[in-house]
Amino acid sequence: MLYRAQFLLSAVAADQFPAAAENEVAFLGRSNVGKSSLLNALVGERVARVSQTPGRTRAINFFAVLDAKGRRRLVFADLPGYGYAKISRSISEGWAGFVEPYLAHRSTLALCICLIDANVPPQPSDRRLIEWLRGAGRQFQVVATKADRLSGNRRTQSLHALRTALDLDEVLPVSAKTGFGMKELWARIAAGDSTHS
Ligand code: GDP
Repeated sequence: MLYRAQFLLSAVAADQFPAAAENEVAFLGRSNVGKSSLLNALVGERVARVSQTPGRTRAINFFAVLDAKGRRRLVFADLPGYGYAKISRSISEGWAGFVEPYLAHRSTLALCICLIDANVPPQPSDRRLIEWLRGAGRQFQVVATKADRLSGNRRTQSLHALRTALDLDEVLPVSAKTGFGMKELWARIAAGDSTHS
């Protein structure tokens, strides 16, 4: 693996965020979408384990992404799963109140990776999040998780339905289980905010 992650801190309030330095990539999705598994597949088990520690599931967990020489290249922000609670127009209702300020104001936030289960139609909460990110002018990439569960036609149909429902040009299918799509996702992360979703 070229990159590994080093846990920085868990924040439950904006004044606990690490000092803004490297570009940040935020990971968002409903609970159970496969976020921990995906982070695990991207940068190693430690991330998932730390993020799932009791008490940290409702925090923003920050990780430095280090290259093979141990240099800090990026920061990953693992945001709390937005669960099945409704995301209101101001997205913060029923979700940690500091998540919206993070998304709205974090100066180093370069890209939001929005995870949606490829096997489930997009939910209103997913749609509201995407609309909110659009309104806020944030760069985002929608990633369809657990793509290994679908094959052939069904995968194509599901991706098409996602693109249509959310009015997107591109959705990246991935599987933490098989590693499918990981190379493409890393390429998207490396491209940062240089391309539009
Ligand atoms: P989180 O709540 O978003 O962090 O989700 P987890 O990573 O804990 O995954 C939720 C469930 O989905 C677990 O039972 C995982 O084994 C399963 N899962 C996660 N990623 C994949 C995947 O790529 N393929 C399949 N088939 N199952 C997955």
